[in-house]
Amino acid sequence: MNIHEHQAKEIFRKYGVPTPKGFVAFKPENAVKAAQQLGGDLDVWVVKAQIHAGGRGKAGGVKLARSTEEVGMFAKELLGKTLVTHQTGPEGKTVHRIYIEEGAEIEKEFYLGMVLDRASEKPVMMASTEGGMEIEEVAAKTPEKIIKVEIDPAIGFQGFHGRKLAFGLGLSKDQVNKFISFAQALYHVYMDYDANLIEINPLIRTKDKKFVALDAKMGFDDNALYRQPEILAMRDLTEEEPTEIEAGKYGLSYIKLDGNVGCMVNGAGLAMATMDIIKHEGGQPANFLDVGGGASAETVAKGFEIILRDPNVKAIFVNIFGGIVRCDRVANGILEATKLTKVDVPVVVRLDGTNAEEASEILNNSGIENIISANDLKDGAKKVVSAAKGGK
Ligand code: ADP
Ligand code: MG
Repeated sequence: MNIHEHQAKEIFRKYGVPTPKGFVAFKPENAVKAAQQLGGDLDVWVVKAQIHAGGRGKAGGVKLARSTEEVGMFAKELLGKTLVTHQTGPEGKTVHRIYIEEGAEIEKEFYLGMVLDRASEKPVMMASTEGGMEIEEVAAKTPEKIIKVEIDPAIGFQGFHGRKLAFGLGLSKDQVNKFISFAQALYHVYMDYDANLIEINPLIRTKDKKFVALDAKMGFDDNALYRQPEILAMRDLTEEEPTEIEAGKYGLSYIKLDGNVGCMVNGAGLAMATMDIIKHEGGQPANFLDVGGGASAETVAKGFEIILRDPNVKAIFVNIFGGIVRCDRVANGILEATKLTKVDVPVVVRLDGTNAEEASEILNNSGIENIISANDLKDGAKKVVSAAKGGK
């Protein structure tokens, strides 16, 4: 799960990570009030679109206002606007809220981030002098400009981690300790909130030599949300894929992708393998879907309905290994689904394991035209890719 910049900054402030003062607003009149509250005599107020995507600055989602009236104008312009950035995809994201903050006097922009590194099995903190740029580009072109430290959670953030980053950034002596306190506070935010990503781009040094988080992005481990009520309360459903939210209600793990082969699989590992083999056969999966170990006819039917809501889907691959879930239940679920929703694309079915024979019988006697049975995983993948391309 991700949160907005203004929410991440709220958390930062609790931990003593400096940020500019600011207020969130959902209406232009509240934006003007927020600007007045920040101080009517500021030189610059910044009006920032709040969406779960970076690159807002370049896309016109960050505006510098010179008066409170101007804050109101920018607020009107941004609220309700669809912003297309390099991270939103071509369809863009609608701005439902904005953040009004005091303008900072930037001397230098840095990058500071923290992610879980699965290879070293540790959180990694990264810093760079190339702040304000897309970090992916820095990593690709000048990787030596990113300084990384792995932090063993059993030991926690230590002075030497901070010094390696600070010296790598070429900070002067009087700034090293300030930077280390900043980084250490950030480490505690990351650990205490079960984050899997924090990105501050830019982290700035102000003209009066203070480090301030000017941008803030945070992502969290979904499996830890049960113990993070404060974060869960920050969830903004307008930022999420509606079909993914609905799938979650039925215990289905569904992730929408861009291809045209719908996938209905049980078990996350098998679902990944299914997507791989579809690609291997020259197709593109339209989704990841794990119907879970204990899928019932109803959940299978719901899964079908959700897959079919995606207009790109040209064929569906049902790949179920009956262990705890019995194949006959899945077959009944497919029948159920055809009653509830019109299944007008070919469905390639590979069912193996518990009650596979009963399942074939159910499907063969069902009178559904679009069903193509597969002998094994590879055969199924071939058939579904060909069906999605309009072949037999
Ligand atoms: P994004 O990464 O989505 O483009 P940022 O929050 O990083 O959004 O803002 C983009 C740029 O706008 C920053 O690199 C900085 O130059 C400027 N900016 C953002 N917030 C402020 C602020 N409070 N004061 C001055 N400049 C700002
Ligand atoms: Mg940024």
